[in-house]
Amino acid sequence: MPGFEPFLLCDFHVHTRWSDGQLTVREVVDLYGRTGHFDVIAITDHILMKKDLLARAGKVLTLGQRAFGVTEERFADYLADVRQEAERAMREYGMLVVPGAEVTQNRLRGAKNSHIIALDVREYISADQRADEILRAIRAQGALSIACHPHHRTTRRIEVSTCYLWDNRSELSDLVDVWEAGNRDDLFSVTSLKHYPYVANSDFHKPKHLYSWKTLLRCDLNWPAVRRALVDNVDVALILYRQPREHEQPATASRPARAPSLDAALGGHATT
Ligand SMILES: [Zn+2]
Ligand SMILES: [Zn+2]
Repeated sequence: MPGFEPFLLCDFHVHTRWSDGQLTVREVVDLYGRTGHFDVIAITDHILMKKDLLARAGKVLTLGQRAFGVTEERFADYLADVRQEAERAMREYGMLVVPGAEVTQNRLRGAKNSHIIALDVREYISADQRADEILRAIRAQGALSIACHPHHRTTRRIEVSTCYLWDNRSELSDLVDVWEAGNRDDLFSVTSLKHYPYVANSDFHKPKHLYSWKTLLRCDLNWPAVRRALVDNVDVALILYRQPREHEQPATASRPARAPSLDAALGGHATT
């Protein structure tokens, strides 16, 4: 649309094998990069509570093979893996990869649960604290918070509801940077009743989740600009990204080099 270019196609909520995703960070980068469509993705693996119920059940089911969350001990290794793949993603696909984490609370009694993404995370953030403490910890390290699927209210027994931030928005909204109004196939349209900043993400766990709600932002391709665009939430669009029809399969070649170095992209230099 004239006057609305260039928009960046973004997905700020992606899980890998560092928690409960199916693919490695490298495989995720190649999956998104090879579409030729994506400009920004964030890797946001779960940080779990010490006594996370779903993780403990999963560990039993996989005979201890999978961890389902990034531990404090492994957090530096996790960030190093994301950083290395971010450099490759920028080099090969011109795609910015932002390091993040989803601080995840899965209590059986769901009234107090929240899932909170920290984007541009540098330090481990414990999930074993109150939501306002998690949000303050995200602010304290200069990261950006997203209230994930903030109106997910389930009646199924093996799922948990994550409505705490929304239900307590009058006290907590000042601490939340962005609200996830779209998550995979769901639109939490009730959250649009407020004039908050919004975003839509895939909550990617497996390849078919590539096709889901996403966000378009109009800004330069570097983290400071993307961060500003998320918070300002002016030139933003929530878009349903669907599988291309047979005759228009996604490009497999890497994109031409409009890519700056990752350092330049993370350091705030405009690329165009
Ligand atoms: Zn979640
Ligand atoms: Zn998630």
